[in-house]
Order: sequence, then C-alpha cells, then structure tokens
Amino acid sequence: MHKMGLNGAPMADLYIDDCRVPKENRLGGEGQGARIFSDSMEWERTYILAWQIGVMERQVAEAARYAQERKLSGKPISTFQAVSHRIADMRIRLEAARWLLYRAAWLKSEGKPASMESAIAKVFAAEAAVASALDAIQIHGGYGYATEMGIERALRDAVGGRIYSGTSEVLRNIISDELGL
Ligand SMILES: Cc1cc2nc3c(=O)[nH]c(=O)nc-3n(C[C@H](O)[C@H](O)[C@H](O)COP(=O)(O)OP(=O)(O)OC[C@H]3O[C@@H](n4cnc5c(N)ncnc54)[C@H](O)[C@@H]3O)c2cc1C
Repeated sequence: MHKMGLNGAPMADLYIDDCRVPKENRLGGEGQGARIFSDSMEWERTYILAWQIGVMERQVAEAARYAQERKLSGKPISTFQAVSHRIADMRIRLEAARWLLYRAAWLKSEGKPASMESAIAKVFAAEAAVASALDAIQIHGGYGYATEMGIERALRDAVGGRIYSGTSEVLRNIISDELGL
C-alpha cells in the first residue's frame, strides 16, 4: 500500500490461510485472549507515539531558532506575539503529551490497569503531533510548505497516529466507557 507518510514503515495486507497454531504456542490459558489483548494494547497505546515526543521537541527547537533568525521589517518574527505564542503552545502540547505518556507508562510498569490513561495518552499525543506539525509549517511560512525543507513530512507522518493502534474516535469511546457514559 502507498501511504501519505511513514515511508520508513512499509504497510501491506497479510492473509493467513488454513493456519493451525499448536496448543503449546498459545499465549496464556484458554479463554484469556481478550485479557491478554487488552493488556498488550494498553502497553502499545502508552508507547506507540513516544517517538512523536522527540519529533515535537525538535519542532519546538527549530521553530524557536527560525523565528529568531527570520527578520521582517528589521525585526525577528519571534517578536510578533502571534508567532511566539504559537511556539509557546507547541511547548505546552509537548509537555502535556510527555507527562501523559509517563503517567500511563508508570501505571503499566507498576502492574496497574491503565485502559483510560493509555487511551488518553495516545489520543492526546496523536492530536498534539498533528497540531505541532501544522504550527511548524506555519512558522516557517513558504519554506514550511516546500517539500525540499522536509518540514511538511512531519505532518504526513503525524496524521497516521490518529488512525493506527485505535483511532482517536474509538479511543474516545474507551474513555467514555471508563467514565460509565
Ligand atoms: C500507518 C498505519 C499503520 C497501521 N499499522 C497496523 C498494524 O501494525 N497492525 C494492525 O492490525 N493494523 C494496523 N493499522 C490499521 C489500523 O489499526 C486501522 O486502519 C484502524 O484501526 C481503523 O480501522 P479501519 O481502517 O478499518 O477503519 P474503520 O474501522 O472503518 O473506521 C473508519 C472511521 O470510522 C470511525 N469509527 C469506527 N468505529 C467507530 C465507533 N465505534 N465509534 C466512532 N467512530 C468509529 C473510525 O474512527 C474512522 O474514523 C495501521 C493503519 C495505519 C494507517
């Protein structure tokens, strides 16, 4: 399949026909599949977007550097509050995503349930990554939109995060269920 981003991770359909798995290869006991699956998904949703924390960190640093270098009417664009506040918002999202991830990771490593916390961490990081990538493009102006600079690539990569490992909508369903709604 050709994708809009994440080109370092090829994607394909996988068909398994007439495949018998020997009993000794089964994970856990009979009837425990759903529990094992949910536990694995809690781990996956906690960590799957950890790499986006690093991307957002780079975007904040690069946006701040560019805003101080790029001058208009003799002044760096960082002196425009609309620009500096956009970078402040990028930093706020980065920190919130990082700490939500750490909280879910701490719960899992303590052997505690983290269905709601891992869903919150994943939804927030996925949506923060898209917002941060859009902000990075905006701050770089025309250069941000040009493919030569590689700044737009982060947006194409980030959009997938709202789909894999539970779409943002399905994760919101999990959060609402946990709230008893
Ligand atoms: C980059 C990438 C990597 C992936 N990697 C993997 C992988 O490694 N392993 C794997 O198994 N799968 C993988 N997937 C598949 C991914 O998990 C699914 O695409 C995803 O779960 C959505 O399923 P779907 O495509 O069938 O969309 P659908 O389930 O058809 O959803 C379509 C839309 O309807 C919404 N929707 C569906 N159900 C509900 C509901 N109950 N309430 C509200 N809205 C709903 C969805 O949120 C979505 O917006 C990957 C997908 C991408 C894009």
